[in-house]
This record gives sequence, C-alpha cells and structure tokens, in this order.
Amino acid sequence: MKNMKCLNCHKQTPDTELYCRHCGVKLDYTFDEVKEKFTEEIKEERADETEAFFRWIMLIFILVYFSGFLFNKLWQNSPSPSLLPGYHPSVKIQDDSSELYKPLVLPE
Ligand SMILES: [Zn+2]
Repeated sequence: MKNMKCLNCHKQTPDTELYCRHCGVKLDYTFDEVKEKFTEEIKEERADETEAFFRWIMLIFILVYFSGFLFNKLWQNSPSPSLLPGYHPSVKIQDDSSELYKPLVLPE
C-alpha cells in the first residue's frame, strides 16, 4: 500500500482506496485528469502572481503621483531664493514691490 496525495484536499491518503479518507472525493484519476488539474493550479498560481505584481506597480504609481502633488505644494509655499531671477548669494534683493503697488493718491 502506497500513499498518494489527494488532488482535492492535498492530504496523504492510501492509493488502494477509491475515495479520499479526508474529503471523500473520488480518487481514480486518469493521467489526463491529473495533468489537467495540475495545469489549472499552475495557471491560477501564475495569475495570482501577476495580479500581485500589478497591484504593487499600481501602489507605487499612486504613491509617486500623490507625493508629486505634495512636493509641488511645498514648492509653491516656500520658493527657494536661489531660484528667483537675479539672485546672487552676496546680493540682497531689494523688495520694492510695496512701493510699486502703493495706491495712487491724487493731489486734491
Ligand atoms: Zn481529499
């Protein structure tokens, strides 16, 4: 008496029995049935792996996308002085914008 693996519940069961001791499924498989079953299982496994892979890709894409938004927001809130036109570390930029945008007061 040899033990064989039940294709339904994956438990060891004597090959002399017609039905699995654990799950009761019929055990007289033909070679083609066994082959088909394993091929199916491998296909399912591969599909799961592919799905998991694409889920990771999507997650990374979403993270990069939203971190881009965050970075852009921070960038806008605090522009680096070195990026302003006419910037030189030793030269102070004179801020005369308050002069420029003073309301025009006409003499009475
Ligand atoms: Zn079984």
